[in-house]
Amino acid sequence: MTGRLFIIAGCSGVGKGTILKMFLEKNPDVKFSISATTRNPREGEKDGVNYFFISEDEFQKAIENKEFLEWAEFSGNFYGTKKSFVEKTLAKGIDLILEIEVQGAKQVKEKMPDAVSIFIMPPSIEELEKRLRGRHTEDEATIQKRLKQVERELEASKTFDYIIVNDNLEKALTQFQNIYDERKE
Ligand code: ADP
Ligand code: 5GP
Repeated sequence: MTGRLFIIAGCSGVGKGTILKMFLEKNPDVKFSISATTRNPREGEKDGVNYFFISEDEFQKAIENKEFLEWAEFSGNFYGTKKSFVEKTLAKGIDLILEIEVQGAKQVKEKMPDAVSIFIMPPSIEELEKRLRGRHTEDEATIQKRLKQVERELEASKTFDYIIVNDNLEKALTQFQNIYDERKE
């Protein structure tokens, strides 16, 4: 039996990474797909752990070689999911999570309709902005660029299978766990 693919998306700063980290600690059999990106690493981020940090040239070559299941440009950088890793992992019967933005989520859903898509919603735009700033990982220009995506992302959330409002973290994590338990292979 093949594994189940889960797609998690949501606005920058909503808490996707936080929820996923906690979920993966509790569910060690589930794998996380490490994306390739052209953005610079944040302090503490490691190549091959958080992302594969690659150059634009390398990214373009990977597109030409059809190495990506999906890819997108987000806020001035490229991000993509390696097809081979996804296929191998699912073929082994392992459940896999992609944490990607909404354009990529659409591409994956079109190619793999059995994938379960979950959108993490902020309790309010004010709270989202507060979290994004409170993280202290982006400069003001980058924060503004990311906030500009919010309207488009909220519109795209309508196409997702599930929506979780990340107001209380524990509650959001429980909802995520319940969806996983219901839909896992
Ligand atoms: P994302 O991965 O979606 O960009 P992060 O997981 O980095 O977002 O979270 C952004 C910030 O918001 C972090 O500082 C995190 O600790 C905080 N955060 C996440 N969930 C909550 C929550 N439910 N309530 C308050 N703060 C939260
Ligand atoms: P960040 O720079 O904050 O790590 O990520 C920015 C956005 O890119 C987030 O919405 C994140 O989910 C998304 N992202 C990360 N990896 C991928 C990927 O492989 N493909 C796509 N389409 N988006 C990704």
